[in-house]
Amino acid sequence: MAEGKFATSITCMDGRIQIPLANWIKENYSVDYVDAITEPGVDKKVAENQDLESIKTKVGISINAHKSELIVVSGHYDCAGNPVSNEAHIAHIKKSMEVVTSWDLGVKVIGVWVDDNWNVSLV
Ligand SMILES: [Zn+2]
Repeated sequence: MAEGKFATSITCMDGRIQIPLANWIKENYSVDYVDAITEPGVDKKVAENQDLESIKTKVGISINAHKSELIVVSGHYDCAGNPVSNEAHIAHIKKSMEVVTSWDLGVKVIGVWVDDNWNVSLV
């Protein structure tokens, strides 16, 4: 049994966002650890709702083994894996939240944007 509270982050692999994102989630949702499930440009991938079995399996491990009660889907500025406008990222994040919510995992799902100063905000 894992000690401490966990959240689950479905996030781009970009090294610039990992620490700001994990810190923001810990501070705002009172968790000790953030499990990170990373893919390049993951907001687009999840929004398109295709080929998500691997991500879904990893989310399941985080929820079942670590008792995570929160899934955070994010997108970020200057994303090499999904090089679209900020507005398009926000649309992808919103759609991703719908897709993850449709998995019906019984946990809270939120979406966040990481801006050009690596500040995190709710979408
Ligand atoms: Zn990225």
